[in-house]
Amino acid sequence: PYIIAEPCVDVKDKACIEECPVDCIYEGGRMLYIHPDECVDCGACEPVCPVEAIFYEDDTPDQWSGYVNANVDFFNEL
Ligand code: SF4
Repeated sequence: PYIIAEPCVDVKDKACIEECPVDCIYEGGRMLYIHPDECVDCGACEPVCPVEAIFYEDDTPDQWSGYVNANVDFFNEL
């Protein structure tokens, strides 16, 4: 799946939510999260993020690698 990383924190622009064809992007307390089991890897959300917070999981920059699990954990804790 695609994931959302640190640039989204306290931004939550939500342009990605408008683009996602399967509505798998959800709002958390300080950022948005992509449901890893619902994302169909279409990539539509990535280019519309104004702060470039969205990455295909394997392409996530090293400094934000923890956000891959953060997107999974968010839904596990619901
Ligand atoms: Fe939604 Fe596609 Fe982005 Fe996955 S890659 S979160 S399905 S817009």
